[in-house]
Amino acid sequence: MSPLLDVRGLTVTYKTSGGDIPAVRGVDLSVAPGEKVGIAGESGCGKSTLALALLRLLPANAALGGEILFDGDDVLKMSFGQLRAVRWAGASVVFQGAMHALNPVRRVEEQIAEPILVHGGDRRTARVKAAELLDDVGLGAGKGRAYPHELSGGQKQRVMIAMALACTPKLIVADEPTTALDVMIQAQILRLIGGLVADRGISLLMISHDLSVLAGTCDRLAVMYAGRVVEQGPAGEVFTDGKHPYSRALAAAFPRIGDDDARRNPQGLPGDPPDPADLPTGCAFHPRCPVAVPICPDVDPQLWSAAPGRDAACVHVKEN
Ligand code: ATP
Ligand code: MG
Repeated sequence: MSPLLDVRGLTVTYKTSGGDIPAVRGVDLSVAPGEKVGIAGESGCGKSTLALALLRLLPANAALGGEILFDGDDVLKMSFGQLRAVRWAGASVVFQGAMHALNPVRRVEEQIAEPILVHGGDRRTARVKAAELLDDVGLGAGKGRAYPHELSGGQKQRVMIAMALACTPKLIVADEPTTALDVMIQAQILRLIGGLVADRGISLLMISHDLSVLAGTCDRLAVMYAGRVVEQGPAGEVFTDGKHPYSRALAAAFPRIGDDDARRNPQGLPGDPPDPADLPTGCAFHPRCPVAVPICPDVDPQLWSAAPGRDAACVHVKEN
């Protein structure tokens, strides 16, 4: 089956007065129809930059290279008209902190109906659909009359999910949809998104720094470090048996939800992520890596095959 989303050699460089910041450095990533793919990695590794690039929502100082094929068409070459058709109807994004983007003076049912109206639906259809969506996200149609300030953080997040589903897109990109919420609500919301997209056959690209929540929701995981994918494979395997030392460190830092003892005492990741404007030579992870060997500062690791369907950018994988 050809992928719905096929990202090839994507680079994003932010041009700043202080110099170039290479935020995404050659990412290949695909999402099949109906597939749920998670992207994990620490703050600053380029997750949001990648998500925003997919729909060309980056600020003007971002220079892009590579290809982003959505349903076979290159997003980077689309006219503005084509791009508008893709946004919401083809792919919709639940942004980081998006719940603060709700309009404070409009009832939530009107805001859920809005994308349907914008894409040519009539008022009656939009109203009926908004009520159904409120039900689907577990809010109940009664909450449709509410204004955002009358809802909790978790409820507002559910409204955002209803909006993202309103035009039944082929792909939903959810960028840390739950950062501000407590961990139990996070788990509930992520399960909700996972269930809603599965019921509708919608593909999902879910971004989080918490590998364990992604492992519970997604089919496949890509782990990012310093602007690159350093490992990818089936979600459960990447979480429990990472082939890249960074994946293992990330899994230890975010133990499985439900494993309360482990979550109370997570193993912190050693050191800090590198400054993208001043990356270590060779493998960007080598200064923090517990299994680094003398060649690591000199070898630029590629995504080598670690097992069928599994790749990791680590010299130890290449040696095996
Ligand atoms: P987080 O987990 O904190 O959301 P992230 O993985 O989403 O992090 P990005 O927001 O994609 O990371 O940022 C990647 C890098 O690009 C960071 O070093 C960030 O400082 C830099 N960056 C992001 N936006 C801009 C911008 N508009 N101009 C310059 N640099 C930027
Ligand atoms: Mg981000």
